[in-house]
Amino acid sequence: MPSPRSARLIAVVTVMTSLAVSAPYGTAAAASADTTTAKDRTAAAGESTESTWAGELGKEPTSLTELRREAQKAYKSIEDANRALVARQKKFGAVEKELAAKVQRLQQATAELNKLRKPLSELVSSIYQDPSLDGISPFFRAGNGTTTLRRIADLDHLVAGRNNVLDDAIKLLDKQQQLAQEAQELRAASLLQEAQLNAQVAALRKRSSTLVKSLTRALIKIGVKIGEGTKGAGGCDPTRISEAEQYPNGLLPKSILCPLPQAGEELRADAAIAFADLNLAYKKRFGTSMCVSDSYRSLAEQQAVYYRRPGFAATPGKSNHGLGLAVDLCGGVQIFRSVQFNWLEANSKRYGWVHPDWAYSSPFEPWHWEYDPKLGSLL
Ligand SMILES: [Zn+2]
Repeated sequence: MPSPRSARLIAVVTVMTSLAVSAPYGTAAAASADTTTAKDRTAAAGESTESTWAGELGKEPTSLTELRREAQKAYKSIEDANRALVARQKKFGAVEKELAAKVQRLQQATAELNKLRKPLSELVSSIYQDPSLDGISPFFRAGNGTTTLRRIADLDHLVAGRNNVLDDAIKLLDKQQQLAQEAQELRAASLLQEAQLNAQVAALRKRSSTLVKSLTRALIKIGVKIGEGTKGAGGCDPTRISEAEQYPNGLLPKSILCPLPQAGEELRADAAIAFADLNLAYKKRFGTSMCVSDSYRSLAEQQAVYYRRPGFAATPGKSNHGLGLAVDLCGGVQIFRSVQFNWLEANSKRYGWVHPDWAYSSPFEPWHWEYDPKLGSLL
């Protein structure tokens, strides 16, 4: 029968272990913990998460789209794991605070008891041990029978009071030690869990970085010119596209953009990778790469186009070109119902690309195609 304390600790550990196991890409944490129980828990958690890891390794991504999806997924898992880490730290912080408050209250109670215990003990001892009284208490010597009886009762009461105070003090000290130990065990479990989560985040970062590198290599292989100087060491990185939302239309930073197989053209990383994949399929069908006349348009470029040909370009700061999610195509696609247009209309969705509804009529722009991140995220 577990004590309430150990029952509580078991409950906490069970919750933490189940969380660690259910997390994607979880790996065995090589956490060095001081206690044996903590080590046991590490081993148990490691065993079950390793099988998850092996399952994921069973199907390594092969296509550009799969690589992009896996890289984005890994990055999302990092963010999730970090959030879990913060939440757990908060939770344990609250539990520890609660325990500390309890210990403090107990210490105060013990101090109060100690204050009472001292005079009580002294009084009772002096009554019993005064050598001048020949072993007879002053209560017995003085007064008549009734008074003596009453005083004996008083004495018994005092002795009982002293014993009660001592018993209470001992109980409180035990409780205090128990709570202090509970706090320590919770702290150890919390540190272990934190170490496991940190190890998980590190493994996820490694996987995300490996996937981005594979992706970059695959893109270079199909002719995308990823300049070492311009894109930094990250290459073509689709994992940080969620940051794109904080930048205004036409002001995307270079780190979020990625070149297309068509020299001089670029799009937001996820759209660019999807486009490169679509381009491979197009090339297989028509024997030539897609013809791109326009892609990402900075705010300055949008303004230049707008003032040169008003009515033919979206209002500056409103175009999906400024979000790095749209291309204008040539090579036949720009002709409505051409074989190229029809092929693209039938096949682009499988790569997250669409011809938006408005472009069929108002304004009629058969050349304008867009990447839909929502659609792309489902691939
Ligand atoms: Zn356009």
